[in-house]
Amino acid sequence: MNNTTSPIKAVASNKQKTIIALKNISKTYHSSNIEIKALADINLDIMPGDYLSISGPSGCGKSTLLSLLGLLDSPSSGEYLIENVDTLNLTMDQQAELRNLHIGFVFQSFNLIDELSIFDNVALPLTYREETLTKSEIEQRVIQALTQVEMEHRKNHKPNQLSGGQQQRVAIARALAGQPSILLVDEPTGNLDSKNGDAVMDILNNLNKQGTTICMVTHDVRYAGHATKQIHLLDGKIIESSNAQDNVTNLSQQAVV
Ligand code: ADP
Ligand code: MG
Repeated sequence: MNNTTSPIKAVASNKQKTIIALKNISKTYHSSNIEIKALADINLDIMPGDYLSISGPSGCGKSTLLSLLGLLDSPSSGEYLIENVDTLNLTMDQQAELRNLHIGFVFQSFNLIDELSIFDNVALPLTYREETLTKSEIEQRVIQALTQVEMEHRKNHKPNQLSGGQQQRVAIARALAGQPSILLVDEPTGNLDSKNGDAVMDILNNLNKQGTTICMVTHDVRYAGHATKQIHLLDGKIIESSNAQDNVTNLSQQAVV
């Protein structure tokens, strides 16, 4: 889409603004006759350079929250702004455009394509943007992203020739190559042993130090401790939030981080 009057592009270049703002977000699933309140009254701001961890027990709403942040699902009520664009008033196509422009996903299972080389795996999402990126720009971005995760030397290998930790680093490179405003990361070490998990976390920590904004779901309190802001969910509510500079704040209902 090359619509220069697009409300998405009008504000996309302004990096000083809040990247993500959730206001009173709730999500209720309806399956059969049962209502499941997965999220209730979530308020959250994510600023450029933030490193936010989301933790809490299984079923507390972590993945639901990440899906909403990634525009993979819609809330039942509330407001969701990405770089000041009200996402809920957009068409599906506009939402997809906003997602491509701003969001990089990293999943627990690396989701690499076995038949493609490491280079081609990282390049693949960029090839959908061929109208805006030339072949050499794509190549430049892929090499830069692979270098950031220290995997450039393996660009001609296939995913099954790499360890799990290395595959996850390639998945991070694939997300970075899109030059997103924020990386959304769901349990990045869930399928890894502790050595590989630590290596992946080192990469995420370094990326944040270099300015990448990260929102990460993790079960591991050790890894949550690397984040500069932490929120803890229980039964779909933020029950605790903390900032690296401040003491932990306990909240009965919700928190603005
Ligand atoms: P977490 O990632 O913290 O384990 P989830 O966000 O996956 O939690 O789930 C939160 C709650 O919403 C759980 O009770 C779960 O069973 C329910 N849930 C998640 N996805 C769906 C769905 N598609 N349909 C119905 N219920 C769902
Ligand atoms: Mg989950």
